[in-house]
Amino acid sequence: MSNSTQVAARPSASSGAVRSRPRVESVARPADAQGQDQELILSARGLTKSYRKGNVELPVLRGVDLDVHPSAVTSIIGQSGSGKSTLLHLLGTLDAPDEGEIYFEQNRIDDLPNRSQDILRNRYFGMVFQFYHLLPELSMLENVLSPVMISHGVWGYWRRRKGFVERARHLLNLVGLSHRERHKPRELSGGELQRTAIARALISRPQILLADEPTGNLDRQTGLEVLEILRTLNEQENLTIVMVTHDQSIAREADRMVQLVEGRMEDI
Ligand code: ADP
Ligand code: MG
Repeated sequence: MSNSTQVAARPSASSGAVRSRPRVESVARPADAQGQDQELILSARGLTKSYRKGNVELPVLRGVDLDVHPSAVTSIIGQSGSGKSTLLHLLGTLDAPDEGEIYFEQNRIDDLPNRSQDILRNRYFGMVFQFYHLLPELSMLENVLSPVMISHGVWGYWRRRKGFVERARHLLNLVGLSHRERHKPRELSGGELQRTAIARALISRPQILLADEPTGNLDRQTGLEVLEILRTLNEQENLTIVMVTHDQSIAREADRMVQLVEGRMEDI
């Protein structure tokens, strides 16, 4: 642990209001000596991140603390440009913070070697982005299967193909797209593409889903349908969800809502 003094010095800002579905414990628990709470699945302490534009340093995150409770839907709201995607990338170890620490189940993950972070993302994290990123040449079923094709290699995949395909079909069914499994992305609507991307994110049975504006590219009704699917997955698969959005009405559907303002978390 390189930074424990910094962590200990920061108050553990357990921010955010518990919303209408109070399944998540709302009582702040005492943190241990390292600022980690045994009940948290994911936590961030004192994250900072700046980008350099020419000679100018642009601070985006200025000391972000975040607590994510298992089996909860947590939404992070913030204006466009407030650093939501930056934060989600750090939480998903797609990028490294300048300072601060990130823990997954009490294990520090932001400073792991790249290979360990790859394994972590493959096994434990699912990610959903605003623009789906589906592969145009593959059918929807193949798109859902693509992460396990990549992570298990050709032979590993073929040995366990039956189980993977069963899981993929189960997920396509959960997101209401069984009838589309042979279709290509160009034949589907935005909402259907996002639902497929959600199914793909879950093929490896992740413990946590990180979703970056999952409804950001959809009309209101379709966005609500996608949210409903996320809620169903949260309840049926006990999936922890962290979702960032600039839309208050979307964010309010979560169990817990926090706001990114000027590079820090605020209660709302
Ligand atoms: P949000 O997702 O809340 O809209 P972002 O995290 O995408 O915000 O971006 C926050 C700020 O950081 C923006 O001003 C953006 O221009 C800047 N930024 C994001 N990524 C980079 C990058 N790779 N290089 C330089 N600046 C970036
Ligand atoms: Mg963004």
